[in-house]
Amino acid sequence: MLELPGGIVTGGTFTCDLCGGTFPKGWSDEEAAAEAEGLFSPAELEATSVVCDDCFRRIMPEMPRLRAELASAAEAEGVSFEEFLRLEARR
Ligand SMILES: [Zn+2]
Repeated sequence: MLELPGGIVTGGTFTCDLCGGTFPKGWSDEEAAAEAEGLFSPAELEATSVVCDDCFRRIMPEMPRLRAELASAAEAEGVSFEEFLRLEARR
């Protein structure tokens, strides 16, 4: 399972997929979706996990490296980057 920042959540609280903590929602689903759409491609959004602000800030600097790793993993499996993300999201 991929760990990508997102914040697309429902209900009054959400559970961070990275640290496992439970947090009150700091923004609406619409705001979260808009923010995520600005940062990620559609395939990446499908693979998005919900993470808290702290984890989000921690992993954002890692995104270029993570994307590079995913790109080589996709190449190794002979699928496109987008296809690979969709496959990963279902694992
Ligand atoms: Zn967290």
